[in-house]
Amino acid sequence: MSKKSMIIIGAGLGGLSTGCYAQMNGYESKIFEYHTKPGGVAAVWRRGDYLIDGGIHFLICHKPGTQIYDVYKEIGAVGSYEIEDMTKYMRFVDETGTKSVEFTMDLEKLERDLIELSPEDADEIRKFVKEVDWMKDSPLLTDLGMSTSPPELRGRFDTLKDMWNMRGFMKYFTGKWSKSATGYSEYLKDPFLKILFKNLFTPTVAIWFVIMIMATVAAGLLGLFKGGCHEFIEAIVKKYESLGGEIQYRAKVEKILVEDDVAVGVVLSDETEHRADIVVSAADGRSTIYDMLGGKYVDSKIQKRYDTWKPYDPMVIVTLGVDRVFEKEAPFTIYIMKEPLEYGGRAITCLPLRVMNYGDAFAPEGKTVIQVMLETDWDYWYDLRQNHDEYKEVKKQIAEEIIKRLDVHYPGISSQIEMTDVATPYTSWRYTLNDKGSPMGWLLTRSTLTELIPRTLPGLDNFYMAGHWVLPGGGVPGSIYTGRNVIQILCKKEGREFRSKSTE
Ligand SMILES: Cc1cc2nc3c(=O)[nH]c(=O)nc-3n(C[C@H](O)[C@H](O)[C@H](O)COP(=O)(O)OP(=O)(O)OC[C@H]3O[C@@H](n4cnc5c(N)ncnc54)[C@H](O)[C@@H]3O)c2cc1C
Repeated sequence: MSKKSMIIIGAGLGGLSTGCYAQMNGYESKIFEYHTKPGGVAAVWRRGDYLIDGGIHFLICHKPGTQIYDVYKEIGAVGSYEIEDMTKYMRFVDETGTKSVEFTMDLEKLERDLIELSPEDADEIRKFVKEVDWMKDSPLLTDLGMSTSPPELRGRFDTLKDMWNMRGFMKYFTGKWSKSATGYSEYLKDPFLKILFKNLFTPTVAIWFVIMIMATVAAGLLGLFKGGCHEFIEAIVKKYESLGGEIQYRAKVEKILVEDDVAVGVVLSDETEHRADIVVSAADGRSTIYDMLGGKYVDSKIQKRYDTWKPYDPMVIVTLGVDRVFEKEAPFTIYIMKEPLEYGGRAITCLPLRVMNYGDAFAPEGKTVIQVMLETDWDYWYDLRQNHDEYKEVKKQIAEEIIKRLDVHYPGISSQIEMTDVATPYTSWRYTLNDKGSPMGWLLTRSTLTELIPRTLPGLDNFYMAGHWVLPGGGVPGSIYTGRNVIQILCKKEGREFRSKSTE
């Protein structure tokens, strides 16, 4: 029997994972990628002697013993790159220099340090640390809920089964632990602690998600890419190509071809037509549904999602190449500033600094790449970009302001900067086409958490979706799982057993 052909749109993690499992399960797949390289938002670029990692901060479940690690292994994403355990999650420093605390994997020390900072919050601190400690040993941590089946694969009893498996986690769906980090900070009295809890991940994310991240640190399940996140991507590309998959770069899909409500291929921006038995989009959700498919396959749930759900806020990423070493610095530090940094209609009080001193691939010897990443608004940058000179000027001003702020903590740094790179939400959109420059798709909230997004669209056959727009919260494991899901759904539909390794 001849193999069924498959077109995949996008060579980000969702598309690459779809491709790997497609090849393992007897499909003949080809990926069309808009950019000149794979990885999507997991992007790394070079500026002179410096390597800028503008993507994945840390890999969750980078070690054997978890279901997620096993999935990485299935698609060849282990073993060929250097990864270091992240023993310190984040350091917070008050700009006055009087207060600081480090979130490390040692929970007893963390509890002691936080109580010392704010004795009046001792009760709440103990409750928070107790949750992290409990989560650290819970089965949820090995799959982070990713192995929950997509709607298309769910049987009659799956909801009951999920509820049983999740019985220990019900406390996170209502009450205090379901609040956003900002909402949760209201339970604390000390102003420094409030800021700190708001910024452990993002202020808008649910606090239970922050507990989960803290638990992965405590369990030793977060890893840092010592050579940059592109090595992880390259390993998957290698696996995909070794399985017979093909990627065509500089290939933007404009339209998905549909005949009698069946997807039959794609049209590229160069107007070439490509046909296949199955089409999978692992590209931006909104442009797939409303542009490539003309908004024809939308029901009220989809419409509501795209009308009302919020994507993660996009980011301005300022990267500096510095002629200086940062030997004992934690990889992530947040400086809480006395004077907020005002730009784009936002007053920013936290300056998150990433110091890439954990690998020697980023900078020549004796030098270091450091990075500040600020959440921002899409509309501001989109409007600004309409006037290129003004856009360039604002980018320059932001970099100068950040350097000035860093000089307070690293005296003399202003004169040691050799390379400055500013990437805005517009840059991110230009290279990945993600709606509003979102770095991870839909924001994880109390309501988005419980909605399982189908990998199919109503009324359209032979078409599937993968990637961070079909799994609220996005992220590396999530995007990979969605590609796996698509092939699982196809195998079930065709009455075949799903394979997670190559048999040829
Ligand atoms: C700065 C940053 C830090 C992050 N840190 C972490 C982290 O520490 N841990 C974690 O788990 N996650 C992290 N994430 C999130 C994670 O990297 C993403 O959720 C995940 O990589 C998304 O993969 P994807 O394939 O769904 O989407 P994308 O990476 O967006 O891939 C989509 C691909 O489709 C292509 N495409 C789009 N439209 C078309 C078209 N019309 N035709 C052809 N191709 C098209 C794009 O060019 C792109 O390559 C981070 C993200 C960012 C931006």
